[in-house]
Amino acid sequence: MQKRIVIVGAGPIGCYTAQLLKAYGFQPLLIEEHNEVGRPIHCTGLVGNKVFTKEMPFVISRSSIINTINGAIIHYDNQHFTIERERVAYVIDRERFDKELSDGLNILFQHVFLGVEKFDSGYIIETDKNELFADIVIGADGANSSLRKLVNHENNIRYFGGIQLRLQVKPRYKDLVEVYLKKPSFFWIVPEAEDIVRIGTISENPYQDLQKFLREEKIKGKIIEKFGGRVALGICKNTVTDNIALVGDAACQMKPLSFGGIYFGLKAASLLASCIRDNRLGDYDLLWKEDLAFEIKIGLKVKEIYSRLNPKELKTVFSLLKKQKAVIENKGDFENHGRLILEMIKEPAFYSVLGDILKILFRGT
Ligand SMILES: Cc1cc2nc3c(=O)[nH]c(=O)nc-3n(C[C@H](O)[C@H](O)[C@H](O)COP(=O)(O)OP(=O)(O)OC[C@H]3O[C@@H](n4cnc5c(N)ncnc54)[C@H](O)[C@@H]3O)c2cc1C
Repeated sequence: MQKRIVIVGAGPIGCYTAQLLKAYGFQPLLIEEHNEVGRPIHCTGLVGNKVFTKEMPFVISRSSIINTINGAIIHYDNQHFTIERERVAYVIDRERFDKELSDGLNILFQHVFLGVEKFDSGYIIETDKNELFADIVIGADGANSSLRKLVNHENNIRYFGGIQLRLQVKPRYKDLVEVYLKKPSFFWIVPEAEDIVRIGTISENPYQDLQKFLREEKIKGKIIEKFGGRVALGICKNTVTDNIALVGDAACQMKPLSFGGIYFGLKAASLLASCIRDNRLGDYDLLWKEDLAFEIKIGLKVKEIYSRLNPKELKTVFSLLKKQKAVIENKGDFENHGRLILEMIKEPAFYSVLGDILKILFRGT
């Protein structure tokens, strides 16, 4: 008999996993606490171009794309430099993106997952409305994943809050993302349309940080939409335990430097679905970590160094980045920051600050 698969969470990664499983002949059932897919939104909607390529086994429609990004401007303390890369990323309508991924799927809306209990060779899943049976349970229930809390001891996971405004303001650059390095975190301005930008940050106090940023940069405009969200960073220890698997934000499959989670989540979802198809679910944890854990670990380390830099050190690092503009343009990858960092370390200009960075690493906060 075919395996019964229940996916908790009809976000983009739960839906993508379900589409692949469907294509492989399964009939997955999703449970979703909200009454529709794609809302509430908690994302800037900036995704690298690879999301829409054949790298993804289930090719994703481009109809949610609303703007094309050809590079970024990095700001620090009244200085800036520009990185130009044609069609490096897209601004998407996240609601539409999610809704399209959910097309044709079997979703139980307004069902809140409450818990799982081992039963026979599978699990009884308890929701606020009913009980369901599954041979395999997939937790795609986001950064606050209840399933992760059930199967993992989360001692190495850190949470941050995000806030974003859609403002009625003419973007200074219609095809460039602006990034402001301002501790404790960073801020982004993403051009959405002729007269709309998406401005936000993710940090420990995002609301206060964003207010301060808007004041300092004298950015004013009518707020069209405002939302928050949470991200979970770390290396999630067990992402498969006895036919329960975690994927997407639930498994912390996110780039720690930019907080982008869609690409890593889609990549891991592809591996998860193929492991289920090939009857080797136990290999999933190892496989996705082979692919993504290196990037996550380097991102976490660089994030830690960034948090410890004093203004003088940050200025030095910024000047170094500015000098490495060509390396970033030629070897940078929107999705794989770790590889770019390794390339930059090979550059002679980096040797002069290597000692300082080692000192920062060892001196603590
Ligand atoms: C402010 C902000 C900006 C971001 N910007 C970007 C960006 O520009 N680019 C990018 O790639 N990533 C971005 N991210 C991250 C991105 O939003 C996530 O990585 C992505 O949404 C992960 O998808 P997911 O399906 O794993 O989880 P989610 O999108 O969180 O979906 C989880 C689903 O599970 C449901 N659910 C949760 N608990 C239960 C329960 N108990 N019962 C039933 N259903 C449940 C939820 O309702 C939701 O539908 C941003 C995040 C934040 C906070």
